[in-house]
Amino acid sequence: MSYVIPPPAPRSLAIHGSRDRFPVNRIFCVGRNYAAHAREMGRDPDREAPFFFMKPAQAAVDASVPATIPYPPRTNNFHHEVELVVAIEKGGADIRVETALSHVYGYAIGLDMTRRDLQLEARDKGRPWEFGKAFAASAPIGAIHRAADIGHPEHAQIALTVNGQPRQSSDIDKLIWSVAESIAQLSMYEALEPGDLIMTGTPEGVGPVKPGDVMVGSIAGLGSIEVRVAN
Ligand code: MN
Repeated sequence: MSYVIPPPAPRSLAIHGSRDRFPVNRIFCVGRNYAAHAREMGRDPDREAPFFFMKPAQAAVDASVPATIPYPPRTNNFHHEVELVVAIEKGGADIRVETALSHVYGYAIGLDMTRRDLQLEARDKGRPWEFGKAFAASAPIGAIHRAADIGHPEHAQIALTVNGQPRQSSDIDKLIWSVAESIAQLSMYEALEPGDLIMTGTPEGVGPVKPGDVMVGSIAGLGSIEVRVAN
């Protein structure tokens, strides 16, 4: 068997302390999972059921070393969202909250880069979010830290600076839906598969970056990532 065109190279992420790689299958993202961010987006942060959107695996960028992403086309409001990323090792449908963390391979820092103007236009017109969220290089993600090594963090400062200036700062203990609850909810709608990633949502303080800006995202226990927007 041969392909009629070259198949795309699989996307993979680094694993902290290892030469092995984590193959990226799908990228699921949780919307509005910190109350203060829901408020800044003009939404009521009541604990309604979580909602999800996706990015293609090809959106993933290995940010285990300083990375550069392009400033994407058709936007004048390119936003950073720093997030805790969950890497799924073991798939399953209808996963129970009580056993959900046993499906996790590890955790990383990620940026859910967003064309905010396109996202809000789509939101307000009742259209899909894809062009605001799911575009090339929209998911820079650092090295995955194995749960076998670090456990399952419940409290950890999460922060992002732009050119050294603080923009986002919170704690993952403020997640409206915990990692285990997000896995359980998501798996009710779609069977999870090994290699899936879940970006768990961003805290308040999202804002624009411009060409040449350098973002540093950090989560206590997971180190930091550095992502530059190309000129
Ligand atoms: Mn997000």
